[in-house]
This record gives sequence, structure tokens and C-alpha cells, in this order.
Amino acid sequence: MGLRNPSPNPEILEVATRPRDGSPGDTSLRGKYHIWTIGCQMNVADSNHVAAELEKIGYEPTDRLDDADVVVLNTCVVRQSAEDKAIGKLGSLKPWKARRPGRTLALMGCMVGIKPNPKLRERFPFVDVFMPPSEAGPLIGHLQEAEIAAEMSRLEREQVARRHRLQDTLQPSGSSQSIRHLSLRGPAPVAAYVPVVYGCSHACTFCIIPFRRGVERSRPLDEIVAEVRGLVAQGVREVTLLGQIVDRYGYDWRENGRAGGPDLADLLHAVHEIPGLWRIRFLTSHPSYMDPRILAAVRDLPKVCEHIEVPVQAGNDQVLARMRRGYTAQEYRELVHRIRETIPGVAVHTDIIVGFPGETAEQFQDTYDLLAELKLDKAHLARYSPRPGTVSARRMVDDVPEAEKVRRHKALERLQERICAEINARLLGETVEVLVEDRHKGKWRGRTRQNKLVFLESDEELRGRLVQVLITWTGPWSMQGRLVRDVSPTS
Ligand code: SF4
Repeated sequence: MGLRNPSPNPEILEVATRPRDGSPGDTSLRGKYHIWTIGCQMNVADSNHVAAELEKIGYEPTDRLDDADVVVLNTCVVRQSAEDKAIGKLGSLKPWKARRPGRTLALMGCMVGIKPNPKLRERFPFVDVFMPPSEAGPLIGHLQEAEIAAEMSRLEREQVARRHRLQDTLQPSGSSQSIRHLSLRGPAPVAAYVPVVYGCSHACTFCIIPFRRGVERSRPLDEIVAEVRGLVAQGVREVTLLGQIVDRYGYDWRENGRAGGPDLADLLHAVHEIPGLWRIRFLTSHPSYMDPRILAAVRDLPKVCEHIEVPVQAGNDQVLARMRRGYTAQEYRELVHRIRETIPGVAVHTDIIVGFPGETAEQFQDTYDLLAELKLDKAHLARYSPRPGTVSARRMVDDVPEAEKVRRHKALERLQERICAEINARLLGETVEVLVEDRHKGKWRGRTRQNKLVFLESDEELRGRLVQVLITWTGPWSMQGRLVRDVSPTS
């Protein structure tokens, strides 16, 4: 299922952490860092967390590799293309490291997995630190140790006492359960990701995530609420609660005998109470866990956006069974109807894999027909590629020729483009609410409550404002409009 990407439809996001405008000077500067991120929203959230932890101990961001003392590559292996990109990037950093061996190179994310593989160390001996997904601790510990070691060699014996003092005053390193903060420099983003469930225990046969991100672990509700409060205090207006199966939030406690713990509906209610927060989203949901309580929370809580990400992966029951998804096409169809009946104006997004082992032309046609029938607002499409270690890679034959996968992928792409164009065209002449996130090519860019991209021109400073926009042009992937009025809440 997963986030956009843990699920097999990995839309590759590449994000290089950049210095923000107006970064304050820091007299206790220890060095500069650069983070390169590829993969899903969870990776983006993890990179932000690492940035904040680095800044806590005196590092500042740079977008110039040559200026960096610390480089972190946050990787994704959900698809071969993402893995190839990460390996290419890693290779290009070998000379960077060789030029100044005292620099630190850290490899993070799904390529490392929950327990770094010794073969990875053998293959990339120039990497200093291997960091499992979501864990900043190994890098922070490495830098602190290196600092202490340097200090020790310079000051020798009499400095032992100083080492103890230093250890006492070091910031706690960022474990996966610590409260995360944004990078401390420059303006905060308007919208931020907040992991609420780590890992996944579902074991869909095609998916590498359970091997790389470990078993499902929900974060305590109080910790999440405190983190969101902290983000809002820094200026964040929208949060997206993340989990590979976010609608299973709290299930791991209940299945381990802790009855009565909170679920996602409780979490949505708790986060909704936070003053100054304007919008809440959550992703990605699994069809089997989309409880009526969650749908009711989306319907009843004004800050929760009408936007549900619920991957189907395939529209044929045999393929779904081989994927070990745990539902049928008819159950998915009924779920979409239930979502639409409960939440007026909701946008439903899905993920689909084409060319899964054994998928016949007729079985693919079932997927095509389901998509044509349900007319969902967005479909993230991926061609199947076997990931080492998964059940489908070990026990199934990747027997759909690549050219046929491409044909199926293109057929769904064309269909979805028509559907998106049709859905967006209905908004022509309508006024929609947009949270403006940034400026892009001279225009303001923001999203509707249904997560549709809107561009608008205005000389006013609109970053972080909630505005009404009259839609004047629509296309399948975005819309354009005119500012009507600023409707930002006063708190
Ligand atoms: S195993 Fe988990 S993360 Fe992977 S697709 Fe299935 S539900 Fe999503």
C-alpha cells in the first residue's frame, strides 16, 4: 500500500535540502550539511528530521556539495530505477569523499534497511555511517563521537573531564521515537509531513518495505500532538500524517494486548484541536482498514481535508490474491462508494501496478474497467519490477514482457488523463479554497482541499495564506485561477 512509493507506485521525489532565505548566522557553527532525498513522503519527513537534528548540534544547510562537511543520501529501493539513481549518486560522491577524507558521508533509508547489511559496507567502504529509515541517531552519534575524539586528541588527558561535561550536554540524538522538529533555519514550510506509523507488517508479495522499514510501530498520540504543536508554532499550517498503512494507526498496540488505545479517528480528533493548524491530511490507507469511524472523522472535522489515498493495485481478484492484498475488486468498489456517500466532495486517489507476474491481458482489462468505472481523482501508476527478497521475486516468474507492461501503463495513463481532465473541468468557473505553499515560475502555487494543484497570479504576498480562487482554466494535472479573497483564519 504504502505511501506514495512504499507502495509499488513510487513516484520518485528528489529533494535536495537547501538553505532557506534569511538563515541566521551561528557563532557555534560546526560545519555544513547537504541532504539528497529520493522516494516517498516518509523519506522527505525523515530528511527534514535529520536536518533538524544536525542543526541542533551546530550544522547549517548548503546546496553546494563542495561546501558540505556532511552529506546524507536518503534512499529508496521500491523500484529498480530509484535504486539505480541512488547508487549512481553514491558513486559520484566517492571523489567528493576522497578529496577531503575528514568529511562524513551517510547512507540512509530503504537501501540500508532496518539492519545494515555487511555487504553494503563492503561495497561502499567510503560511506561512514549507515542509517536505517527514520533514524537520525547513528549520524548524530558519529558526528558527536568524531567531535569528542578530535577534542580528546587535541587536549589529551586533562580534557577527560571536559569529555564528560560534553557528553552530559549533548542533545538527545534523534531516535525514531523522538519528537521531530523542522529545520530551525529560515521560514518553515506551509505544509509538513508527520510520521505516525513506522514500518509495515502486511507483507504484500511485491513489496520490499516490510524488509527495509521493519514491523509496524505506531507512535504515541501525545508525542504526535506535541510534535504538530511544535510545527504549528514554527508556522506550519497543514500536516499530513504518514504511515505505510496509516489507517492501521494503533492496531499494533491492540493486537499486542493493549486494548482501548487510540485509533486514527482518535488521532484526527486530537490533532484537530490544535490551534493555528488549518488543514490535516493522512496517507496512505489500506482498503481493509478504512473504518467508518475514520470516514466520519473526515466528514465531521472541518480541518481534515476531503482527500483519501487508498490504493487498489489491481482490479482482478486473482491478481489481488497473488499480491496478497486481502480484498476483492468488488470490496474496493463498495469502499469507494462508501467513501463518496460519507464525505461530500471527496477526492479518492489510488495506486495501480501493471504487469504483475501472471497478469493476463483479460486480468489487466479488469483493472482498466474498474478505473474507468470508478473515475478516481488520481491514479499513481507503476510497472511491476521484482524487488530482491520479496515473495513475488522469489516465487513468481516476471513473465509479462516489458513492452507489454509499457503498453498497459500507457493505456491506464491515457484513461486517467481523460478522467482527471473531466473531473477538473467541472471546477471551471467555481470558487475553491487554496492553501498557498510557494511561488513557482512567477505564479503562486497551492492546493485545494482535494489536493488539486492550483496556480494563480497576484502581486500580494500569499505564501502560507488560505485564499479563495476563481478557477479560470483547467487541465488534467493542474488548474489556474484568480484570487477572490483571503480567508485565512485569524488563529
Ligand atoms: S507491504 Fe505494506 S507498505 Fe508494502 S504495499 Fe503492502 S501494505 Fe503497502
